[in-house]
Amino acid sequence: MQEQHADAVLTAGEPAWAGPVPVPDLDSEGYWAALRRHELAIQRCEDCRTWIHPPLAACPRCHSFTLGFEQVSGRGEVYSFTAVNREFSPGIRPPYVVALVDLDDADVRLVTDLVDVDSAAVRIGLPVEVTFRDITADATLAMFTSRSDEVPRG
Ligand SMILES: [Zn+2]
Repeated sequence: MQEQHADAVLTAGEPAWAGPVPVPDLDSEGYWAALRRHELAIQRCEDCRTWIHPPLAACPRCHSFTLGFEQVSGRGEVYSFTAVNREFSPGIRPPYVVALVDLDDADVRLVTDLVDVDSAAVRIGLPVEVTFRDITADATLAMFTSRSDEVPRG
């Protein structure tokens, strides 16, 4: 994935996005297009049904080029996480929580931000669900937050 920095559009009540902006390529366009619709869709091999993330040009299991994107529920659980309290990337201001999230209905693990949750309440196994953040007029990121029936959002 290439990265570019662009002037971000503000969503009401949210600070401007200071991080990298994704540039879709031929392999990942289906993933980013779904996010723009506020849907989470994961690449899947149409021959052997293997889930693939991040998106690739060919299936790593059977080498098929017949790949598609399937919408998933966006529900999952925290496999691991780290709470970041100092600035590692210029412009990306702490504190924030980076997590590995295992999806409930696709055999993939996503690297993501956990948002709107008290970092002290984050734990391995925490049930989470996707939330979408429009960072520019045509770029949306998938982030995760605690399920409303679990931990009060901070
Ligand atoms: Zn395959």
